[in-house]
Amino acid sequence: MSQLGDEIKAMIAESGPISVERYMELALGHPELGYYMSRDPFGAAGDFTTAPEISQMFGELIGLWAAEVWASMGRPNPVRLIELGPGRGTLMSDALRAARIVPDFRAAIDVTLVEMSPTLAESQHETLLTAGAPIAWSPTLAECPEGPAIFIANEFLDALPVRQYVRSGGRWRERIVRLDNAGELAFGVAREPEPFIQAPGEDGDILEVNPASHRLVFELGARLVKQGGVALFIDYGHAVTGIADTLQALRAHRMVDPLRDPGEADVTAHVDFAAMARSGRATGAAVHGPIDQGDFLRAIGIDARTQALSGRASPDRASEFEVARQRLVGKAEGEMGALFKVMAISNRSLPPPPGFEPTTPSA
Ligand code: SAH
Repeated sequence: MSQLGDEIKAMIAESGPISVERYMELALGHPELGYYMSRDPFGAAGDFTTAPEISQMFGELIGLWAAEVWASMGRPNPVRLIELGPGRGTLMSDALRAARIVPDFRAAIDVTLVEMSPTLAESQHETLLTAGAPIAWSPTLAECPEGPAIFIANEFLDALPVRQYVRSGGRWRERIVRLDNAGELAFGVAREPEPFIQAPGEDGDILEVNPASHRLVFELGARLVKQGGVALFIDYGHAVTGIADTLQALRAHRMVDPLRDPGEADVTAHVDFAAMARSGRATGAAVHGPIDQGDFLRAIGIDARTQALSGRASPDRASEFEVARQRLVGKAEGEMGALFKVMAISNRSLPPPPGFEPTTPSA
């Protein structure tokens, strides 16, 4: 068992079972032993690969997307470009480079990176040393500077802890993490039912909710309504709320038991975009999507970008761009185009952001 696993076991032995939500929070964000707190998990040698790590095109297209959003906002100066959970800083670096073709936008940008991990903040700092834009770090959204803003969050919501309920004996009870007879971490069910949950279901069903994501969307929506701007969320998840346990753990690119070795594997849950959209609308903001990542990237020009980059590259490099494009937009097993969804939340006075414009039905 990992060091954090031992610590969680001791915690449960002393004070009783913890909720799945608390478990996930500790597994990712324990100040010293949490998964993101002390390591760089990305890439082939790590546990998982994200879209900005697959290709520079991803961040570049988002940079150009942001420039168009900025123009639709009336070209505010300054404009806050705020990224939630920036990982290695790769997306932001590619976005800022691409944004150079819109010099007024580039000059108006000040960047805030919302990051809880000191290790990853360090790696973002290194990636962005030569970016040439003012960059500040903030551990939470609440501490970000005010004003018109463009928010970007790629694979951020999936890292926020979910709460789960299990249907048993016709009632919903919170799913917990306890110790089994052998003293190992095991899932269990709280004794007391939760009277406030109205969802129907059958015994054994698992209902998953994400209070932290809702809090974030409420905070963000309220800010966009008041101060103007747009937020872009990209993540894997479902467009329709369902009843399912989506908690999963990835280690070295393989699925592992989420209770095994907390702190050593990336524990995440699918994003319930329908629920996020409801929260977004409740703030008075406009919600666009969710749409498939593949459709979004094509709408904002990934095909042309691939061609432009390939045209200037060696044949090997050109085929790398094509392979990356296919992985990002393709909708087959193992490709990201349909698995990942894109949703935007914006101030109502703004037109739909690029990629979300209503399309005229083709003949
Ligand atoms: N966007 C990046 C990284 C995704 S991984 C990419 O696409 O490559 C999730 C990122 O969110 C990491 O940087 C992690 O440290 C950060 N993170 C997770 N939970 C967070 C929280 N509650 N507050 C701030 N940052 C968080």
